[in-house]
Amino acid sequence: MRRLLAAAGVAGVASSVRRVRRFRPTDPAGEPADLGDVDGDAAAERLAELIRLPTISAGRRDEAVFARFRERVAELYPRTFAALELEVLGTGALLLRWRSGSDTPPLVLMAHYDVVPVEGQDWHDDPFSGRIAGGLVHGRGAIDDKGALVAVLEAVEQLVGRGFTPARDVYLSFGDDEEVFGTAAQRAVQALTERGIRPWAVVDEGGAVVSGVFPGVAGPIAVVGVAEKGMLDLELTTEDPGGHAATPTPMGATARLARAVLRLEKPFPARLDDVVLAMVDTLGRQAHGLPRALFAHAPLLRPALASVLARSSRQGNALVRTTLAVTQLQGSAASNVLATRARATANIRIALGETVQSSVDRVRRVVDDPGVALRVLSGSGPSPVSRTDNAAFALLSRAIRSVYPAATVTPYVMVQASDARHWAQVSDSVYRFMPFDLTAAELAALHAADERLPVAALRRGIGFYRALIEGL
Ligand SMILES: [Zn+2]
Repeated sequence: MRRLLAAAGVAGVASSVRRVRRFRPTDPAGEPADLGDVDGDAAAERLAELIRLPTISAGRRDEAVFARFRERVAELYPRTFAALELEVLGTGALLLRWRSGSDTPPLVLMAHYDVVPVEGQDWHDDPFSGRIAGGLVHGRGAIDDKGALVAVLEAVEQLVGRGFTPARDVYLSFGDDEEVFGTAAQRAVQALTERGIRPWAVVDEGGAVVSGVFPGVAGPIAVVGVAEKGMLDLELTTEDPGGHAATPTPMGATARLARAVLRLEKPFPARLDDVVLAMVDTLGRQAHGLPRALFAHAPLLRPALASVLARSSRQGNALVRTTLAVTQLQGSAASNVLATRARATANIRIALGETVQSSVDRVRRVVDDPGVALRVLSGSGPSPVSRTDNAAFALLSRAIRSVYPAATVTPYVMVQASDARHWAQVSDSVYRFMPFDLTAAELAALHAADERLPVAALRRGIGFYRALIEGL
């Protein structure tokens, strides 16, 4: 830390002190929303009921369950389904349009109702029980993403019941195949694009309200994904004449592949991109003492901060560089036969500023072996970066702070891929945010055992979507 500050000293001591003094929070205080008329328990009951329908999209889909879900959701939110125009896209994605009477660009609220499987996970009870106990709704999909879907619908149902008309059209886009990288979101993007509609803003799943994740900042942080990393599946293969395992040759197909895999343990270079710099700037203003002095100089300290973040945690590391994980290995089919072909798959998450091609080029350089063939199985670069200097982001921040008044709203880069990337092709205001305050343990249960959502968070989530729509 001291060395970092010394490096910042190049700016001169006096200007450095001025910089730290001016480095203060810029967010105005939030105006708390009145949630007195939001019935969290009733919403939790409806969420529980939807959790009981196991809409698993991986493997062979049970279409009857998906159909039942669509039926039931319409029954649970009758005013919404009566007042909004419904289209069913593809295999069962729902696109609902709430007319405003104005032709200004619309707000799109996204969620998905398919869930990931539960096999091989150690659940404490039935993942599809929808049990409500201890102030928590339990079950697969409670957070990802039926929780957000219910919060959106609860807000709309209440506003429609009140006779409210939004100032711009609001589209609800509920996918049925997000977890298997399906086409539902693309179809919704296409449907709107064909009608000449470009969204004013899009809100999809992503960051949440968390605490204790940023050095020196104790209070809650609402992390809003304004971009997401790219994704690349790269196959590495080696070949060899093979033969009997009793008479091996050195550096056969498997050994050669293993050497390449080990070389790939060398990480991609760490770099602090503009989004992470904006995050450090926003959050650093909330920090105290030495961390704050350090963050005040972030623009001068990019390389040093990148390496600090890289070492801080797995998440921190993923924020500052392209990551590579070899996830699949394959050799010979029998234990006594030399492999004629060995194969590995590397799953690569591409940092902002890099591309599929630059990632492949680097793998080739690092492996440094013409005997290892590379093949791109699938790949797409990082998403464009959404704006944070516009009215849409300001409204989003206000809506967040109306239900989380103590939270600091910050942009960040999502390290996982989401459906929102399709919208990023047509809108410069795509925000990945789940309006729930979650503990580290609750977040860790996403895609894992014992997924659960606090009823209190669900209630605040409803308040968030309501404030967002009312504020349009
Ligand atoms: Zn999800």
